[in-house]
Amino acid sequence: MRVTFAELSQTELSDLVASLRAAYGELSARGLKLDLTRGKPSAEQLDLSTALLDLPGSADYRAADGSDVRNYGGLRGLPELREIFAPLLGLKPEGMIAVGNSSLELMHDYLMHAVLFGVPGGSAPWRDVAFLCPVPGYDRHFSICAKLGMEMIPVPMTADGPDLAEVERLAADPKVKGIWCVPKYSNPTGEIYSPETVRRLAELPTGAEDFRIFWDNAYAVHHLTDEQPEIEDIIGAAQAAGHPDRPIVFGSASKITLAGSGIAFLGASDANLDWLVGHLSKRTIGPDKINHLRHVRFLESPQGVLDLMAKHRALLRPKFDLVGQALTDELADTGVASWTTPRGGYFVTLTVRPGCASRIVELAGQAGIALTPAGAPFPHGKDPQDNVIRIAPTFPPLTELADAMAALVLCVKLASAEQLLAA
Ligand code: PLP
Repeated sequence: MRVTFAELSQTELSDLVASLRAAYGELSARGLKLDLTRGKPSAEQLDLSTALLDLPGSADYRAADGSDVRNYGGLRGLPELREIFAPLLGLKPEGMIAVGNSSLELMHDYLMHAVLFGVPGGSAPWRDVAFLCPVPGYDRHFSICAKLGMEMIPVPMTADGPDLAEVERLAADPKVKGIWCVPKYSNPTGEIYSPETVRRLAELPTGAEDFRIFWDNAYAVHHLTDEQPEIEDIIGAAQAAGHPDRPIVFGSASKITLAGSGIAFLGASDANLDWLVGHLSKRTIGPDKINHLRHVRFLESPQGVLDLMAKHRALLRPKFDLVGQALTDELADTGVASWTTPRGGYFVTLTVRPGCASRIVELAGQAGIALTPAGAPFPHGKDPQDNVIRIAPTFPPLTELADAMAALVLCVKLASAEQLLAA
C-alpha cells in the first residue's frame, strides 16, 4: 500500500513536488486543447436520434386527434407525446404540459411569473424571498435565483438527498419559498433521493403557505447500470400530505434525443398548470407540435425511450469507467481526493483537499484542459471549502477523455503536494 501524501516527510514531499512539476512541464509542452466543462451529449449520442430530422415527413402531419400540427394551438402539447413521457417521469398525461425545448426555460418562467405575480395559494408576488439550494448542485438553477435577486441558502447533500433536518429548520422561515431538487442521479453528485426524503419533503411544515419543490427530474431514465431505480411519487405524496400545489416536476428530452431540439415537460397540480398555461398563453399561441409529432413517431412508446437510453448507456458507460479507473489508478491511497461512482446522470464529482480545487482548475487550464470553474456547483459560484470539482465525461471522445484525465490527476497531485509542502 502506498503512503498518503500527508504521511510523507518534508524531504519526500519536496522530491515529489519536483517530479510532479517536471511531469507538469511535459504536459504543458504537449499543447493539449481538451474540454471537460459541460454535461453535453457527444456527437455519437446525437447520431442516435438523427432520424428525427426526417420526421414527421411531408405527407402525414396529422396528430392522433386529426389536427394539423403545422398550425397554431395546442398549448399543453400533443397528448400522445405526453402519454409516452408521463410514466417515465412519474406523471399523468393530463397532469403535465409539453412546451418548448428546454426545461430550464420552464423553471425560469415559473420563477419569473412567481416574482411578478405570485403563485396559486400565495397572497403576494415573490419579492425578497429565499430558495434552499442543496449543494453541490446545478449551476444554472442557481443562476436563475441570482438573476431574480433571490437569496440562496445552501443545504448540504447526504447520500439520501438534502439534509432534511436543515431543510426543516430553514423552511420554517416564511421568506423561504422553495427548494431545488434533482431527485435522481443528482447533478453533480449522483444521489438518488430515498423514499423517506420524498415523503418528508412532501410533508414538510413550512413558514410559507406557497412553498414549492422544484423537482428537476432531468436524469429520470439516464441509467449507467442495470439497476433502474425508481423514486417515490412526489405529486401523490404531496397530495396525500395536503400540499397538492407544492411540487413542480420538470423533465426533458434534451439528453434523450437532441439537446438542441428536445422537448421540455412540466407536471404539477391543476391549479399550477392553469396558472402557468394562463401566463404562457400571453407569450405563445402554441408549442412546436411538429417536433412533438416527430418525437412521437421516433420514440413510439415509453419502452422506445428506454431502448434509446440503453444505446446512450452503451456509449457513456466506457467513459465513466475510464474516469473511475484513472482516478483509482492515480489517486487511490494518496489521501488527497475522493470521488463519486454515479449509477446514472452526467457527472462525476471529485472532492479534493480544502483550498485546492481552484488551483487544480487553474493548473489544468494552463495545460490546455478546460474544467468547469471551481465553485460552479455552489450559489454565486463560491465553494466555501474550495474542494469540489465537477467532471463532465460525456462529450469528449474516449481518447481525449483519457488524455484529459491523465492531466487532471497530475494537477490534483501537484496542487495537493504543493499545498502540503507549504503548510
Ligand atoms: N436540469 C438539470 C439538472 C441539468 O443537469 C440540465 C442540463 O445539464 C438541465 C436541467 C437542462 O435541461 P434542458 O436542456 O431541458 O433545459
